[in-house]
Amino acid sequence: MDLYGIDSEAVRRLDALLESGVTVTVTAHTHPDGDALGSVSALVGYLRECRGKDAVAVLPDSPAATVRPIVPAGVPLLCFDTQPDACLARIAASDLVVLLDANGFSRTEGLQEAFEASPAPKVLIDHHIGPDTEHFQVVFSTPDVSSASELLYYTLLELPDIGGDPRRLPADTARALLTGMTTDTNNFANSVYPGTFRMAADLIAAGVDREAVLADLYNRYRENRVRVMGYLQYEAMRITPEGLAYIIATREIMDRFGVDEGETEGLVNIPLSIDRVKMSILLKENGGHFRVSIRSKKGWSARACATSHFHGGGHENASGGKLFWPGDIACREDASAYLEQVSKACLS
Ligand code: 5GP
Ligand code: MN
Repeated sequence: MDLYGIDSEAVRRLDALLESGVTVTVTAHTHPDGDALGSVSALVGYLRECRGKDAVAVLPDSPAATVRPIVPAGVPLLCFDTQPDACLARIAASDLVVLLDANGFSRTEGLQEAFEASPAPKVLIDHHIGPDTEHFQVVFSTPDVSSASELLYYTLLELPDIGGDPRRLPADTARALLTGMTTDTNNFANSVYPGTFRMAADLIAAGVDREAVLADLYNRYRENRVRVMGYLQYEAMRITPEGLAYIIATREIMDRFGVDEGETEGLVNIPLSIDRVKMSILLKENGGHFRVSIRSKKGWSARACATSHFHGGGHENASGGKLFWPGDIACREDASAYLEQVSKACLS
């Protein structure tokens, strides 16, 4: 183990797998966020440019329009929702699979079976607790980093061709790593470690234009996003006596403002700025269920709440899951009553 907890024996085995494999498939969790897309793009770019591999990103579903631009033009991307046959054929033809930003193939939903059935060796690089080590030959797993992008950065540095010099990373890879870390830390607000600042400093010194990264991430939204975020905070946010703030973004509201689910990214963090709010939950209607985002202040566990009440998981203070009807609740309109119960169970 070195300073960043990168296991040198695992690096040696990763390097050997990269030497022998040619057709590499890189994947991440469903509903890919900036860290998933940044880390996947960074690794595919490195494998293509530095190692001459036929590396392709294969994702369980298409990225939301707000985060799609994180994937550079030079990174081939297949998505299971739009090209299921191509994804399955690619997985079957792969001689190496790498999973990033997810603790097991269960987080790749519709692709889980195909990945688990593949005889190719598999590598896990992730920062969630509870890695499913059973399906992987090489595992890099620690929750003590900001993001999968940060863990991948320090792993790449250990590879012999990079030799600790970030200037040897392709420019698109360096930028994707800084982008992924920036989104998962909410621009250096959460889960920041000394290594996170060091990574940022090194990548900026190596030539990454941080201002351009920030402009691409935070200054290119549609007007509709800002308007629906204002509406949801003003009209839809409720705060329970225990200190749970919750917002239910129904299909009607989303349609009225003409926004898709990805455009409420970041909203769940805002109520935490209120003094008496300990936890924030955002429900986003998605077909016959709600997708659930949970954030908590230190001392209250978003993860425990996601695990106990929403079939989910994640990090201690940033988690997610789902709420089904009928099932968890009889009908959609029962969601607020359910959240009031969750508030009592998780915060009193
Ligand atoms: P977000 O609220 O941004 O969608 O997700 C926050 C965190 O929760 C992410 O780290 C993500 O990995 C985790 N997460 C979101 N949805 C789920 C889920 O359905 N299951 C599990 N296990 N984790 C989730
Ligand atoms: Mn992540």
